[in-house]
Amino acid sequence: MKHIGQHAIVIGASMGGLLAARALSDFYAVVTVLERDAFPQSDIPRKGVPQGRHAHGLLARGRSVIENFFPGWTDEVVASGGVRGDIAGDVSWIGHGVTIKSAPSHLVGLLAPRPVLEGHVRRRLTALSNVRVIENCSVQELITETQSDNWVNVTGVRIWQNGTSTDVMLAPPRNGARSAVVISLGTIETTRIALTTFRQSLQGRAAERMGKNLVAHLRSNLTIRIPRQAIEANLPPTVIPSLQCSALLVKGKAPSGRTFHFQITAAGLNKLGVDSEAELFKKIPTLEHLGDMLRATDDTVVITIRGIGEMTARNPDSFVDLSTTEKDFDRPKAVVTLGNAKASVQDFPGSVETNIDRDTWKAMDAVSDKIALIFAGSEPFGEEGVILRQEF
Ligand SMILES: Cc1cc2nc3c(=O)[nH]c(=O)nc-3n(C[C@H](O)[C@H](O)[C@H](O)COP(=O)(O)OP(=O)(O)OC[C@H]3O[C@@H](n4cnc5c(N)ncnc54)[C@H](O)[C@@H]3O)c2cc1C
Repeated sequence: MKHIGQHAIVIGASMGGLLAARALSDFYAVVTVLERDAFPQSDIPRKGVPQGRHAHGLLARGRSVIENFFPGWTDEVVASGGVRGDIAGDVSWIGHGVTIKSAPSHLVGLLAPRPVLEGHVRRRLTALSNVRVIENCSVQELITETQSDNWVNVTGVRIWQNGTSTDVMLAPPRNGARSAVVISLGTIETTRIALTTFRQSLQGRAAERMGKNLVAHLRSNLTIRIPRQAIEANLPPTVIPSLQCSALLVKGKAPSGRTFHFQITAAGLNKLGVDSEAELFKKIPTLEHLGDMLRATDDTVVITIRGIGEMTARNPDSFVDLSTTEKDFDRPKAVVTLGNAKASVQDFPGSVETNIDRDTWKAMDAVSDKIALIFAGSEPFGEEGVILRQEF
């Protein structure tokens, strides 16, 4: 492979950073990966990857990219309990209530706990002779120098380790080949590093657009319990004495032109609880719980209507900035501010964009209420039980 530089530093040793380091190892003489967390002894979740507790799967392309980087990697994951399978032949895909016919596709995916996927990649990466992974170090900022033509050059990375700052310098350019830093962090932490590093660069112009155009989504959950009779006409004639569940997607558009959709889940759960979302997504029955689920009566049905709406872009009320009061590893923390479209206009007048979001949210919630009424057979659903509306 042609070397294009002496030294590459990758910030963040999660899946993105580890794979970036593997790609760079073919082209740079030395690759250094810097990670804030300590790596666990066994493949268990760690703080920096909170989603590591969720079930994970790799689709065919992702798996084959990693397999090409580390031949034999899939077998290693399978030996650790992963499940390999044809993503069309071995999986049941259900869309709009219809189970799609399974057929071999030769597209091989892989299901495994996230820490197992990451752990095997990390061990294979650290076995490479030109790669060094340093744990327990938090990157504070990039080290820069401003050149005579006013361009800003990155020359290294400043890390916080054991209560002190240390500089990890890039190898200087040689024979026209330059070293590089790759940031492989999430949105907020990447913005923090960029703002901390470049705030003063180019008389402040470099940082002008950093942290702007922050977009999340509008969320409302409505959970209702309705009597089974309200939907009786569409159900099997005999009550099935076990957990029944169902899911449905509904799309909509507000007068503002912004779109939203509803993920609707339902479960017949009279004796188990009122949160069908929790039952469906968080409670994978253990052997002890299975008996309870089988005994559950379903003379009422719990339905969660989870609304997700599109936010307006370029909202001056929504941004990432540096805290003026709080610090993390001796540098200002990143603070996220979102235009409060849920507050009343009196409490938070907001920008034009926040007001568009406010209208979208209202329209979405109104449709959500109509959907609830449809499920309740046009009867007021509140009379039968609990109504919960949560906003995020
Ligand atoms: C609930 C959930 C389920 C998912 N399921 C799947 C799935 O089934 N299949 C799939 O392919 N993808 C899935 N994803 C997406 C996948 O988890 C992410 O795309 C992936 O983790 C992104 O990796 P990353 O390396 O870019 O960033 P991250 O995983 O966010 O890692 C960032 C890393 O940087 C480190 N770090 C942070 N700040 C610093 C600092 N200052 N200095 C040094 N290190 C720092 C952190 O400790 C961490 O190791 C899921 C995501 C979620 C939230």
